[in-house]
Amino acid sequence: MTFEKLVSSHSHQTSSPPDRHCSNPAKFDGHLRIYPTLACNLRCDYCVNEQMGQRPAVFSQASPEAWVQAINREGRHVVLTGGEPFLYPGLSELINGVNADLKVRVYTNFCLSLRDVLDRIQRPVHFFISWHPQQRADRDTFLDNAFHMLDNPLFTADMHAIDAEETRAGLDADLDYFLKKGLTVTKDDDQRTFDGSCQTALKTAVCSKIIYLIGPDGTRFQCVSRLIRKDRPMENMLKSPLATEEAVSLCPDFGNCAPCDILGQTQMAVYNNGQEE
Ligand code: SF4
Ligand code: SF4
Repeated sequence: MTFEKLVSSHSHQTSSPPDRHCSNPAKFDGHLRIYPTLACNLRCDYCVNEQMGQRPAVFSQASPEAWVQAINREGRHVVLTGGEPFLYPGLSELINGVNADLKVRVYTNFCLSLRDVLDRIQRPVHFFISWHPQQRADRDTFLDNAFHMLDNPLFTADMHAIDAEETRAGLDADLDYFLKKGLTVTKDDDQRTFDGSCQTALKTAVCSKIIYLIGPDGTRFQCVSRLIRKDRPMENMLKSPLATEEAVSLCPDFGNCAPCDILGQTQMAVYNNGQEE
């Protein structure tokens, strides 16, 4: 069912139109967003997982071989995220197995000792590296990883830190420390401005997301919130080809979305359920 048809049928059934729409006109980039693990070595207050008020659901972990076969069959560029992807034991095998014509991007906090695993990666990778000052992770381990990575011509990177209320106290001192050692880390704005997340009163929404979000066992979910909660699983890309890019549903959980669920190509028609604003 399309977004428009589901909005029309729900509005007809409840005899009330949506109270408002939230949307993001960004165009889907076609990439697979794969979470090989939801485990993390840090525990940031502003993390999606913490914002959901719970630790992530438990998933079984797929083998690197299974990921490689499914990614290459789909023939799409891949973003590896989490959690901390470097906690997934087969990360270098997974990355090395992806067809050379596909791009690989990795989101990481770069705070584990990574020299050995970086040396095992033998194909181009673009890293999105976030420094998380609140956790007092070791700055010199981060620096050592960063310089080791930058020495490798296969690798490129964006390095940033979130300028959040919880991090502000230590952030400037850390960024100065990095700069004095020769590494520039830029500040990014806090993205927790989406009012569909962190709310106590939940609303109904017709939600459409054009995205491929894949959990650690290969199961696809419509949004990050559902992935973290292991709620309403879709197809499993390790067992069968992925279905259409658009995922549409009538959702009772608007308000419990992850802060990043408004990123990417998204349409939501929100019903007020008779509640006062
Ligand atoms: S490093 Fe990232 S995934 Fe880990 S707790 Fe912090 S925000 Fe969450
Ligand atoms: S929880 Fe939010 S983002 Fe996820 S399907 Fe429901 S409305 Fe959409």
